Parts: sequence; structure tokens; C-alpha cells
Amino acid sequence: MPGPPKKRYRRTPSPKSGTDEEDYQPYIPVRERKKQQLVKLGRLQQVQVEEKSGRNFSPSSGTATEEDEEKEEEVPISVSVEPKVETKKVETKELWRAEEEFLEKNKNVSLLEQHKELQEIADQRKETNIEKMRREEDRILQSVGESTALKGVSELAMGIEYTEPIKTSWKPPRYIQSMPKARHDRVWKKYGIDVEGIDPPPPLKSFKDMKLNKVMVDTLTKRKIENPTPIQMQGLPTVLSGRDLIGIAYTGSGKTLVYVLPIIMFCLEQEARLPFARDEGPYGLIIVPSRELAKQIHEIIEGFTKDLTKNGMPQLRTCLAIGGMPTSEAADVIRSGAHMMVATPGRLMDMLNKKMVTLDVCRYLCLDEADRMIDMGFEDDVRTIFSYFSAQRQTLLFSATMPKKIQNFARSALVQPILVNVGRAGAASMNIIQEVEFVQPEAKIVHILDCLKKTSPPVLIFAERKQDVDTIHEYLLLKGCQAVAIHGGKDMEERIRSLSLFKTFKKDILVATDVASKGLDFPEIQHVINYDMPEDIENYVHRIGRTGRGKNTGIATTMINSKVDEAVLSDLKHLLIEAKQKLPPFLASIQTEADVMNEYMGDGGCSYCGGLGHRITACPKLENVQNKKAGEVGKKDYLASNAADY
Ligand code: ADP
Ligand code: MG
Repeated sequence: MPGPPKKRYRRTPSPKSGTDEEDYQPYIPVRERKKQQLVKLGRLQQVQVEEKSGRNFSPSSGTATEEDEEKEEEVPISVSVEPKVETKKVETKELWRAEEEFLEKNKNVSLLEQHKELQEIADQRKETNIEKMRREEDRILQSVGESTALKGVSELAMGIEYTEPIKTSWKPPRYIQSMPKARHDRVWKKYGIDVEGIDPPPPLKSFKDMKLNKVMVDTLTKRKIENPTPIQMQGLPTVLSGRDLIGIAYTGSGKTLVYVLPIIMFCLEQEARLPFARDEGPYGLIIVPSRELAKQIHEIIEGFTKDLTKNGMPQLRTCLAIGGMPTSEAADVIRSGAHMMVATPGRLMDMLNKKMVTLDVCRYLCLDEADRMIDMGFEDDVRTIFSYFSAQRQTLLFSATMPKKIQNFARSALVQPILVNVGRAGAASMNIIQEVEFVQPEAKIVHILDCLKKTSPPVLIFAERKQDVDTIHEYLLLKGCQAVAIHGGKDMEERIRSLSLFKTFKKDILVATDVASKGLDFPEIQHVINYDMPEDIENYVHRIGRTGRGKNTGIATTMINSKVDEAVLSDLKHLLIEAKQKLPPFLASIQTEADVMNEYMGDGGCSYCGGLGHRITACPKLENVQNKKAGEVGKKDYLASNAADY
């Protein structure tokens, strides 16, 4: 007797009406049920689409419930509506029909067989929905891609397209060149290096193979840098051989040397060939989003060039062009002929406008923290700077976050680029223990003292707003802590003084806004405390990345509460899961659409900002960007520029 009812029971979920989902629920785990609900809603959408005929299927609505209908209206992503998925619609419909027909026909076939075949049909159906959603996501990503080319004015005017990478005299050692591709594959695999692009140079596992100047290798050894990190293994040969590069590797993984060592080598070569005349240069240009970072890179370069001069090599001059400092110093270096220049976008643009510097001989351009620069509103400035180039240059972009956005932005400026990825773009460094604590807003400031007990100094405290930085700073001083503070509202001298006190261990705590979150390499930070959760997850990755640098490890503590946006919390949750960190109950309980979608789509998160806790269809950042763009239509100044860093 148990046979027939069972059979009938198995047939009840047959999707005749598409609305009988209750039948599934009592017997299936929540996660599985959600997944099935998605499949089903996908079909519901199809039915609605067919009824309305001609209206497209949107993946955001693919997971929406009826109450979400209003929200759906609000989603500002302006994807053109094209009635193009007709064939897929038919396919999905046919699959359902196939299932029904199958059930009719196979009444007498064994349950196991039936199950297998039904499973296959269900898989195919799932596949079509996934494809559809993926196509929709791709289209959104493309539609937000940048349209204006990143080129020099003369290049644009004359329609010049560079198709071949720049040629340099550098070649990998012959013994490496003669090795088979399988060896390179093995090295890439072993060190987790992901390389894309046409004809990438082979990875090199020692600085010796990179044929650097001996003095430079000695300087590296003096700084206890003996073996290249994975990004350096692939990045250095790529840059030395003249190729354009997008380098993505986690915070503290040694990206700076990937562009600093080659730029010095190239300048040495240029100087040896023909000494730089007065007012000539720069040959190499490095643009970064904050003054402090520019200063740090300038110091690193000077460290190498001073050692070179001491050892009888030609003197190389590096100009530092940052806001908050008199332009006269930079002008002096340019007047004597500058080989290299490290600049923030605002100041550089100003100097270009005033014709204090030209990019006529500039052949090497590096944007470090490239995506941060765009996020901070420097996009227009970077575009303008590109327009000052008059010849082909080698272009390099670095960041720990966001490959696709950088690629979209830079597509027109790069020539046959090599993309080197070490780890997922946007992933946190695995050297950091990440702790997240639920703290009510009014208890946060007192809680800092508890956090400070966790480790010895130096400790870095981040807050989003300048007022909070000042409040925390005052509070810590009152409590007798050795603290300094920096933010965009303080003058440059004070910023430099505070940083130097902190870097030389004369002060224990630095309280800062995000001016200190990008690229700064403080020695041995033990603990990063986030007084608040940044508005986007990439900023979080950069902030905590001030600890756990190089071979060091560190702790990051982040205070969250119910005021924090759920999308960011969801991103944080997934980032912690990815880095195998402990999930606090508050975060674990957050369930968003992306939890189901990520699993269902088989890949992680938002293709626009890299957040793992949402899809591009619900990206708060994209929404912000588009709203901002819409608001800026017709305005002609640089409102979005970060005045603090000009
Ligand atoms: P990123 O830009 O990737 O965040 P940095 O270039 O600032 O990282 O480097 C982080 C730290 O690691 C620096 O203090 C640097 O001196 C050190 N470092 C760089 N390369 C190496 C290496 N090959 N071996 C050991 N330490 C290194
Ligand atoms: Mg860096």
C-alpha cells in the first residue's frame, strides 16, 4: 500500500500552477527551501513576463517577494529594457513541460530512475535561470563601464591607438626563458598567482634573476627583503619587460616595490644614455590618493637613490607634489631635471594647468591604490592628467581591491595589459585576526579603553568623521594615553609631525580618518580598531590592512551596531567567513538575498564593488555613484574631489 501514495506525493510538487510552494516547505531545510523558492520565483517571473510580453526579466526581481515590489521600483540601475530573452523563455517553459510530460509517461518507471531524470531536468532549468541572471549582471556591469577614453588629447584628436607594448632592454635570464611553460604554470599555482593577458613574462623566484642593479639588491638586503613576494615574482618581470599591468594583491604584500624598483632602473638607464637637462622630466610618474602615501613612496624611492649616489651611480631626483606644501620645493626639483615624480592628483593637475610641469617625456605611469582614487572622486582629475600625455607610456595600476572596476576605468589606457591577481581582489589579508563586536553607539568611546587592553602598542584607531577623531583623541589624552591624531582638517605640518611621532614609536596610538587607511606602511602595528564600520567593505579591507603587513600578524577590532547598513554588514559577514574568522551571533543572524543567490549562482557577490554580501543588482555603492552622477549633470566643477588631499 505505501507505493501509490508515495508516488502521488512525489508528484505533488509538479509545477502546474507555479504558486503551490507551501507543499515543499514542511519537509525541506530552510536553505534548500530558499533555493527552490528562487527557482520557482524565477518561473513566476517568467509567467508575468509572458503575460506582459516584451518586458524583460530582471535578476533583482527574480528573488524579490511581493512585498519587495516597491523596492524594486527604486533600484536606480538603468539597464535598457530589451525584449531579447525570448529564446530562453521558451527554453524554460519547455523544460517545465518536459517535466510534466515525463511524469505522465513514466508512471511505471522505478522511483530512483524517475528521480534521476527529474533531477536532470531541474538542473537544466536552474542553468537557464542562472545564465539569464548572469547575463543581466554582466549587462549592468557593462552599462556602468566608463565611456570616455583615458588618453592624451593629441591621441584622441588624431585617433592614435597604441597596439604594441613598450619595448625595454630587459629580458628574463636565458635559463628561465628556455624553461617550458609547465614550469611557469607550476610556480603560478604554487604561489597562488593568477595571470591573465597575452604572452605574460615568466615568474622569477629571486631578485637575482630580475637583474636589478647590485646597489639596489644590497639596499633590499639591508631592509631584510631577500626573496620576492608572489606579486613581486610576477609583477616585477612584467613591469621590467615594459608591459602594462594591473596588479592586485592583498594589503601588505609588497606591491610598492613592483613599481618602485623598475622606475629606478629605467631612470638610471635614461640618465646613463642622456643626462636629464634642466626643466626636463619627469620620466616616471606615480599618482596616489593621499599626501601621506605620496610622502611615504617618495621616502622609499629616495632611500634607494641615495644609496645609488653613495655608490658612485648618477644622482636621480624625485619630486614630491602634494597639497598642503609650497609648490616651490617641487618646482626646484623640476627645474634641476626630475627623473621621477610622486603626486596626489589635485596638486599635479594644478601644476600641469599652471605649466609648472609637463608630461612630454613621461613614459611610465603608475596609479597606486587606483580604485581608491576613483572612489574618492578623483576620476575627473585622473582623466585630465591622462590628457597631458603626448606619447605612449607604460601604465600600471595597483590595488588590493576591485579588479573589474579598475579594468573598466582603465581599459582605454592600457595596451595588452597583464592582470596579476594574488588572492581574490578585495579579500582581507590572512595575517589579520578580525574581531567584530556589537557596541551601542553611546558605549563606543569607553569601549576603546577595553580594546586597547588587547595588545601592546602601536595601535591605530579609525573613525569615519573628523569630529569623532578629535573626540577620541581628546578622550585618550584625558585618560593619559600617548595619542596623536590626523585628518583632512589638520594642516599638513601637523599631519606630518604626528605621523612621524607615531612611526618612530614615540607615540602609542594614532587616531585617524581614512586619510591613513590607504597604502600607509606603519611598522609593526599590533591592532587596528575601527570605531565605526566604513561605508564600504573595500575601505574596511584597506583599514585593517594597516596591520598584518609583510610577515607580521595583527588584530583588527571593529565596533558595529544596528545603525550600520545591512548590506555592509552582510559583506562583512561573508568576508569573515572567507578569511575563516569567528562570526559574532549578530552577524551570523543576518540573512540577505545574496546568501541564497551566491550559492545558487555558484560565485561570490557583487561584480561591481567586490562585496560578497550582495549582488550587483543591489549594490549600494553603485546606487550612490549613479545618484551622484545624476546630481552632477550640468555642474562643471570638481565638487567630488577630495579637497583635503589636493
Ligand atoms: P602593499 O603595497 O602591497 O600593501 P607594501 O609594498 O607597502 O605593501 O609592503 C609592505 C611591507 O612589506 C613593507 O614594509 C615592505 O618593506 C615589506 N616587503 C615588501 N616586499 C618584501 C619582501 N619581498 N620580503 C619581505 N618584506 C617585504
Ligand atoms: Mg601599497
